[in-house]
Amino acid sequence: MKVTEDGEQTDDSALSIVLVFFDVYQKSIEVTIRRTMEEFLSSLQSELSRPFDLSTMHQHNPLISQFKHKKEGFCPILHEIDGSIKIGITEIGIWDPVPPSRFLYGVECDAHASLLSLYRFRQESTETDQLLQRLRKATIKIFGVACGLYHCDDPGCFLTYHMTISDLDTGMYACRGCRDDFIRALQSLNSRIGA
Ligand SMILES: [Zn+2]
Repeated sequence: MKVTEDGEQTDDSALSIVLVFFDVYQKSIEVTIRRTMEEFLSSLQSELSRPFDLSTMHQHNPLISQFKHKKEGFCPILHEIDGSIKIGITEIGIWDPVPPSRFLYGVECDAHASLLSLYRFRQESTETDQLLQRLRKATIKIFGVACGLYHCDDPGCFLTYHMTISDLDTGMYACRGCRDDFIRALQSLNSRIGA
């Protein structure tokens, strides 16, 4: 058991998952993403050998040269943060500058970190309910990216390949195969922490 400066007790044998909000000021977005992660992790908990510890941090967006891949600004920050899995969330639009350049809603940052961009979700969602509904699905998907999961072949699964944001609307569940992959990935992190 570890006690932080403000007196909060954390279980240091727990699997720590950190949500890092980069200048995200809409409370409903933070609540939705956090709650989605809590519910999903709770649904996996009986198959994990350690408890999880989900925490939230707030940071400012990094300054990034417009010619660089935006992830180059965010990933080093995520890598510096303590935690088994780190997921960044930003309002900034991210794209892959390598031709054919394209917009991305999420990117892998290696070392068990990933970054979700809200930009395209805002551009392509007409109302808040639709935006939050899509973010629930995207949260599971970006968590999968941080866990090193690959695209799923099940068209109803949140982790299948999505060309556009609206493709997320067909996702209804995290399929059994992906849940097993999540458990395997999280268990392998556990054993490394315990070593
Ligand atoms: Zn799947």
